[in-house]
Amino acid sequence: MITDKFRILTVDLRDGRGNVITLDGRDTVAGGSGLAALLFSKYGNANKPWNDPDQPLIFTIGPLTGYFPLMSKTVCAFKSPYHDQYAESHGGGRSAFALRFAGLDALVVTGKAARPSCVAVGSRHLEVKEVHYLWGRDLYTTGKMLRGMFKGAGHRSILRIGPAGENGSAIAGINVDSYRHFGRLGGGAVMGSKNLKGIVIHGDGNFPLDGSKEYPKLFQDVYAKLTDTDMMSKYHDIGTPINMAALNEVKMLPIRNLQKTIDPGISGITGEKFAELALLRNAACAGCPVGCIHIGFVRERFRKEHRYLYRQVSYDHEPIFALGSMLSVVNCFAVLAIIDVAEKMGLDVMSAGVSLAWATEALEKGIISEKETITRLSFGDSEAYKQAIQFLGEGKNDFYRLLGQGTLKAAEHYGGRDFACVLGQEMAGYATGEVFFVSEALGLRHSHLDSGGYSYDQKEKGKDPEKAVDFLIKDEQGRVLLTSMVACLFARGVYTDALLADCLKSVGYQTLADTLGKVSRTIQKLRWQARLATGYRPEDVTIPKRFFEITTGKGPMDADYLASLKDKYAQAIRFLAVPDATENLSAQDR
Ligand code: SF4
Repeated sequence: MITDKFRILTVDLRDGRGNVITLDGRDTVAGGSGLAALLFSKYGNANKPWNDPDQPLIFTIGPLTGYFPLMSKTVCAFKSPYHDQYAESHGGGRSAFALRFAGLDALVVTGKAARPSCVAVGSRHLEVKEVHYLWGRDLYTTGKMLRGMFKGAGHRSILRIGPAGENGSAIAGINVDSYRHFGRLGGGAVMGSKNLKGIVIHGDGNFPLDGSKEYPKLFQDVYAKLTDTDMMSKYHDIGTPINMAALNEVKMLPIRNLQKTIDPGISGITGEKFAELALLRNAACAGCPVGCIHIGFVRERFRKEHRYLYRQVSYDHEPIFALGSMLSVVNCFAVLAIIDVAEKMGLDVMSAGVSLAWATEALEKGIISEKETITRLSFGDSEAYKQAIQFLGEGKNDFYRLLGQGTLKAAEHYGGRDFACVLGQEMAGYATGEVFFVSEALGLRHSHLDSGGYSYDQKEKGKDPEKAVDFLIKDEQGRVLLTSMVACLFARGVYTDALLADCLKSVGYQTLADTLGKVSRTIQKLRWQARLATGYRPEDVTIPKRFFEITTGKGPMDADYLASLKDKYAQAIRFLAVPDATENLSAQDR
């Protein structure tokens, strides 16, 4: 059942009313990232602050959601509390399929509820339910209660926030179905500012698969590529934590607030070690046969007569780097225990870990004291970090409230900017070199997944800034196409542009399939226009000194190369956002 027009549910929390609208643009912006930027241009207000009730919280899916494997993600867009600019965060779980089966391409939430509330939507219903009794509850309790209140397990997706989101922390995420997240750039605080504790999406409608006769055959081919070849085996087997040992070996793993990039001591937190000792099971987003979600366990003794409780905690490379190697916590169960607290609080695990790594070094250097940190933070001390994560989520004192706005905000106040590991937001788990640092610092989402800068650093030998920036721009263009479909980026090796075109044609999106080059450029432009319109100045981005001090397997950082990359990438971003920037491109380029 293809839909040429987008079908969008808007919900205004001020009166609890909803409206279904249809919107043109399928052949121009496809869906996902493109649709989110289009909707922000319609409902967002560049000049009002992120927490103005008028600002929208947007969720979008793509034209292939539900039709092909790994088209399993949802794009969440909002004005971010982290920098008060346009932002995107991507999450999976059942969210995308639930929206598809609810017959929606997008959900747009505006306004602020008078009291803490939960929105429940489905193919034929909308309910805004008052849930004051959930306010202040941690993420686990909230999940349990919402699952009891809203039936439909298996077809239902639950998005929820913890105390960090309620407290306006700019590093609060939105949890999706327990093991996935819209983690970065503060979507949790946007929900909190709207008095919105949860969103329940019921995929309770029909979704007839009436594609062409080529469709079933193509589906089988794609499915076989994903499951019968080794293209995705890395994700299913050890999972992304396989990167821990691999990066350590080539001296590219951020360790101890990036004071080091290699340490044999991380052997207790490699992917192999997690798989051997702590892995309980794998799980998958809806519509994904790969199942990259690795779930370990935390066991707590609650009575001296050997009585234990256990909780299941998902892990990946990024949480392990942020709460493991960055904090020099090198025992897999200790890392899982800290992740568990961050989850309960509803914090973005990566940002929380990197900010506490900064706080630990700041305490060591005497820039802050225990008056600020309350507990004695010390690299390797997992018990202290469990406490500190709780304080960060609760906003326990002025220090933790400021740190919860981002490490640089705390560094501006207390000092210690030089060793703040911030590249647009708290860094991701790759210390690969200049191209990655610049791509993360300036990229639209400040995400390592916006472009393959980390792999460029590892594969390319030369230092040609123009070639590198050209790579970043083209790579981003390919990725925004995928995030407009909305594919899991782990499948980027499978879903080439040619395969995407075949998939679109097989379900009836002929025009879109024929113009993918032009469409991806349009989406790239729209996103950058949204970001720049909300105040982003790429030329003003600075990279803290710590990133210049490291040595990787390729040698010490080259400050001149990095500076030149930064300047050229900033110029390229400006050019990308010019309204008619693609007009001069050749027909072949399009
Ligand atoms: S590979 Fe992992 S993140 Fe991607 S869709 Fe599958 S389970 Fe979800």
